[in-house]
Amino acid sequence: MFTAIHELAHHVMFAEKGNKSACAHTQDFWAAFHSILDIAGKKGVYRVEIDTDTQKLIDDARAISGRVVGLWRELGRVILAIEESCRENGLRAEDIIERKAQIGKQSSKVAVAAYNMGDQGVGVDIQAEAAKQRDEYKRAAVIAAGHEGKTLFIRKHFHGSRATIIAAGHEGKSVVQRKHFHSS
Ligand SMILES: [Zn+2]
Repeated sequence: MFTAIHELAHHVMFAEKGNKSACAHTQDFWAAFHSILDIAGKKGVYRVEIDTDTQKLIDDARAISGRVVGLWRELGRVILAIEESCRENGLRAEDIIERKAQIGKQSSKVAVAAYNMGDQGVGVDIQAEAAKQRDEYKRAAVIAAGHEGKTLFIRKHFHGSRATIIAAGHEGKSVVQRKHFHSS
């Protein structure tokens, strides 16, 4: 069923957009795939029965992912303190952070955003995606999608200022990609 939905998503993309390029697995494709997966789940066409051993590992992975985000917040706090200290001591903060602390601009940005946002109870991918959003509405939408339990695929339709977020599960994505690569 999982593979059938994958192929159906290709059909939908082709019917909607005439998309039949070599690079068919676009972000739009994954968004379509995950929304069909959601619908199939709600209709009971596609069911995932997770055994207790796997569930335990899923819980562990989510807990670790949350702890990594906790470390990002700590890092963000220290980066802001470095900036403050550099100001007081006449040093160039961006140089100190990048060359001496060896933390690149992008990592700094994500860490500082994580610190500023506080504990949102989400894992690394949702937190990183939220950190990229400039306006608070979009940040909140990304976090809310994360709290709905399934996330990673986030698609933004820009109709004026409105963003529609379609989210889907991390495990689902890697499984389907592997299946696809092995079977085609
Ligand atoms: Zn495919």
